[in-house]
Amino acid sequence: MFKGVIGSIDFDQRGATSGVISVPHSVDRSPYYQIQIPYWRMHAGDGPSILLLGANHGDEYEGPLVLTQFLQAVTDDDVAGSITIFPSLNAPAVAAHRRCSALDGGNLNRSYPGSASGTPTDQIAAFMAEEIIPRHDTVFDFHAGGTSMAHVACGLTQKSPGQDIDAATKAALNAMGLPFVFLIDTDDHSPTAIGQARRAGKLAIGGEFGGGGSLTPQSVKDTQQALENVLMHLGILKRRVISGDQKPKPKTQFLSFNRAELFIYATQAGWCEPLAEIGDSVRAGQPALRIYNLLAPQQPPVEHSFMADGVVLARRLHAHVEPGDCLFALGGTT
Ligand SMILES: [Zn+2]
Repeated sequence: MFKGVIGSIDFDQRGATSGVISVPHSVDRSPYYQIQIPYWRMHAGDGPSILLLGANHGDEYEGPLVLTQFLQAVTDDDVAGSITIFPSLNAPAVAAHRRCSALDGGNLNRSYPGSASGTPTDQIAAFMAEEIIPRHDTVFDFHAGGTSMAHVACGLTQKSPGQDIDAATKAALNAMGLPFVFLIDTDDHSPTAIGQARRAGKLAIGGEFGGGGSLTPQSVKDTQQALENVLMHLGILKRRVISGDQKPKPKTQFLSFNRAELFIYATQAGWCEPLAEIGDSVRAGQPALRIYNLLAPQQPPVEHSFMADGVVLARRLHAHVEPGDCLFALGGTT
């Protein structure tokens, strides 16, 4: 019996094409069921090529929305080279408006390089790693904080500890036009799409564009501008099609993401009062949050302080916390 993942788009076909990646997933309701993941491609000729990924996590909406807007607006006259777009890569998670797949619980952006004989999420990752990522020069992966976290708009990439990023990656991250970029130190086994793209020797960048399982006018605008800024920087887009009037680009501050002191985790259950907001600059020793027991109001709160100097990149949105929940993440400035 045929079991493999298949994609319907012919990568050599010129112009705009749309199709689906089909992942077999036999279930009670439908023995020959397929998970169908939509994708779209514009092939305007030889030249630079980019892969744009939305919804590696299913409750992060800026990427899926803006990539959908872009593919509906762009024409082959606007493009040099080729663009492949997966607006809703983890389609089972998007359908369930969840971070992880509703079919197998898989976190797609922790599943690379995947396995062709594994769970549906493993199979999606393996197909992307083996069949899709290698066809492109650049991979741009769109994220946000998801339902439970607020995240400042920023670019990101991964790098080996103790090493700088290369000039081309730095230029692409600067081109986004966002106030912050954070550089995530990882080993060679990173299970993310960016990690996989780096292993394949690609220019690999990403962004965090909002959070709360929500969209705002500003988060959409930031995402539209970052997308088209990068495409124009790489010479793939000849003119803007969705991002409209441009505000002056801020100077981008590069931040580290490389040590435990940048994070605050809950160590007991309770209800969290945050004392800082995303985008704030904070210092080591500065109070960060208090955790109350609202069911024992006579108990004094437990206060946590920041353990490093940095910029608040993300904070938990849900007031109720459990041990192990990440409450704040900083980008380090020292
Ligand atoms: Zn994400």
